[in-house]
Amino acid sequence: MSEILVLVEHVDGDVKKVTLELLTLARSLGTPAAVWAGPGYSDAAKARLAEYGAEKIYVAAADEIGDYVVAPKAEVLAHLVAERSPAAVFVAATGEGKEIAGRLAVKTDSGVISDAVGVGEGFVAEQSIFGGGVNVHSRVNKGTPIITVRPNSTAPVAAAAAGAEEKVEVALSDAARAARIVERVVQEKGARPELTEAAIVVSGGRGVGSGENFAIIEKLADALGAAVGASRAATDAGWYPHQFQVGQTGKTVSPQLYIAAGISGAIQHRAGMQTSKTIVVINKDAEAPLFEIADFGVVGDLFQVVPQLTEEIEKRK
Ligand SMILES: Cc1cc2nc3c(=O)[nH]c(=O)nc-3n(C[C@H](O)[C@H](O)[C@H](O)COP(=O)(O)OP(=O)(O)OC[C@H]3O[C@@H](n4cnc5c(N)ncnc54)[C@H](O)[C@@H]3O)c2cc1C
Repeated sequence: MSEILVLVEHVDGDVKKVTLELLTLARSLGTPAAVWAGPGYSDAAKARLAEYGAEKIYVAAADEIGDYVVAPKAEVLAHLVAERSPAAVFVAATGEGKEIAGRLAVKTDSGVISDAVGVGEGFVAEQSIFGGGVNVHSRVNKGTPIITVRPNSTAPVAAAAAGAEEKVEVALSDAARAARIVERVVQEKGARPELTEAAIVVSGGRGVGSGENFAIIEKLADALGAAVGASRAATDAGWYPHQFQVGQTGKTVSPQLYIAAGISGAIQHRAGMQTSKTIVVINKDAEAPLFEIADFGVVGDLFQVVPQLTEEIEKRK
C-alpha cells in the first residue's frame, strides 16, 4: 500500500494526541509514515509513533528546524513528497499545521483541503462548512493530496508497526530562515486539557449568569477530565477568557462529548462544535435551538442539573 505522510505534532519531545489520530486515519487508507521535523526526537517518541501504526518514521531532527517558524517543516515535507511520492500528506488542522499545508501545496504544486473532519477512500475529505450547516465531500485533483484534519476527528487506536527510522537531511533555503524564533514563552496552563484537543468539552453560556458561576462548569469539567469552553455571550461579558470561546469567531472543537449548559445554539456557536460526536444540552428552555442537534437533552435549570451531574460522576469514580 502507498505511503501516507503524517506530520508529527510534538511539544518538548512529546507526541501530541492529534498525531496518533492521524496515524490511525492514515492506516485505514494506506501505510502510515510519520515525519518528525525539529529537535526532541527520542526512543520514547519513536515507540509512541510505532505503537500507533507508523511503519516508517522520517526523522529530520536538526536543531535548526526548530529555530525558525513554519517554513522549514514545509521544506522537509516538500523534500519527502519529491523523493517518496506519497499517496497523500496528512497534517493536523492546527494554526501551524494549516500554514505548513498551504506552503507545502505551493511548493509541490498540489491541491490542499483544510479542516477535514474525515477522509475516506480515494482521499475524499469531508468538511463541515457555512457555519456547520453543510457537509461537503471533496478530493484533490492535482498533485499530492494534502489534507489538514481537525483534532478529535478520529479516535486514536493503537496498532503496533515497525517504526523503521530513516534520517532526513534537508538543506534549508534562505527563505525558510526568514523568520527566526527569538524567544519562547510557555503559556500558563492549568491541569485541564487543551480546548481543541480535549476528548470532552463542557461549555457554559449566558445562562451561567456570571464569572463566579463558571465554577460549576469547571467542576463538571474536572470531574470528567474535560476542557472548559464558553459561548461568545459569556466571553464578551468577561465571565470567561476569550481564548476559550467556541464558535465561528472562536475555537473549533470536535470532541467525543460536548456538554453545553445555558447556551441557546446560535449558528455561530454551532459552527464551532457541531461536529462533536455526542452532544448533550442542558437548557431551561425546551425550545432552545441547540436541542435540534443534541444527542441527549436535559430541560432544566443548569444550577440544579450541573451540580447533580458532577456529584453523580464523582460517585462513580
Ligand atoms: C459575526 C458573529 C460571530 C459570532 N461568533 C460567535 C462564536 O464564535 N461563538 C459564539 O458562541 N457566539 C458567536 N456569536 C454570537 C451568537 O450569535 C450568539 O449571540 C451567542 O452564541 C449566544 O450565546 P449564548 O447561547 O450563551 O446566549 P443566549 O443566546 O442568550 O442563550 C442563553 C441560553 O441560556 C439559557 N438559560 C438561561 N438561564 C438558564 C439556566 N439557569 N439553566 C439552563 N439554561 C439557562 C436560555 O434559555 C438560553 O437558551 C457571533 C455572532 C456574530 C454576529
